Amino acid sequence: MTTKGAMIVVSAPSGAGKTTLIKRVAPKFPEAAFSVSHTTRLPREGERDGVDYRFVSHNRFEEMIRLGEFVEWEEVHGAFYGTARREVERLRDAGKTVVFDVDVKGAGSIKAAYPEARSVFVAPPSEETLRKRLTLRGSDDPEAIERRLAAANEELSAQAKFDFVVVNDDLDRAADEMEKIFKTILTENEL
Ligand code: ADP
Ligand code: 5GP
Repeated sequence: MTTKGAMIVVSAPSGAGKTTLIKRVAPKFPEAAFSVSHTTRLPREGERDGVDYRFVSHNRFEEMIRLGEFVEWEEVHGAFYGTARREVERLRDAGKTVVFDVDVKGAGSIKAAYPEARSVFVAPPSEETLRKRLTLRGSDDPEAIERRLAAANEELSAQAKFDFVVVNDDLDRAADEMEKIFKTILTENEL
């Protein structure tokens, strides 16, 4: 019997470091492939279309909603983000372990659509650290940072619903812990 690839949903308040952790840990697992979401937000410096996101217009995103092309989609901090069904199916058919980077609501929707998915919550060590990281990242203006921090409080209260929680304090330590969690999920998937 062949085992389908596992599904790993990583979620966190914006700025907690989930993208950084996924980029450090996922390359250690050749069977893992990142589910590239569609978004209407503009690319940040260094982001590539088709690699970090598929950057699309509002019109195209709305058309995809109408055509039922998303497993889930959410409006997050003023832009739309969605997981395309075709992307997930393509990776699963190729036997890949699919890694998702989605917001907290999206994580719930993916678990509802794929009950076999396992979820990991990346928590910031403190609100002050989160503010510092969002400021240092330099991709949001002060107003957007305040919006992200306000949302973070609500998102933090959802962490009990996740299968695993990693506190992203020291990056090396948190990456090691995330790697162990990936190994646990992959092993469970094979049993
Ligand atoms: P998210 O994807 O959760 O929004 P990012 O991965 O973009 O967050 O991280 C936000 C900022 O914090 C980035 O500038 C990143 O380099 C930095 N960062 C991430 N993890 C750590 C860490 N453990 N220690 C210090 N800075 C970090
Ligand atoms: P950012 O703009 O910082 O890349 O992402 C903002 C938020 O949108 C993050 O919490 C990220 O995980 C989330 N996000 C990215 N792609 C998707 C998606 O396809 N669906 C949902 N629900 N959230 C997403």
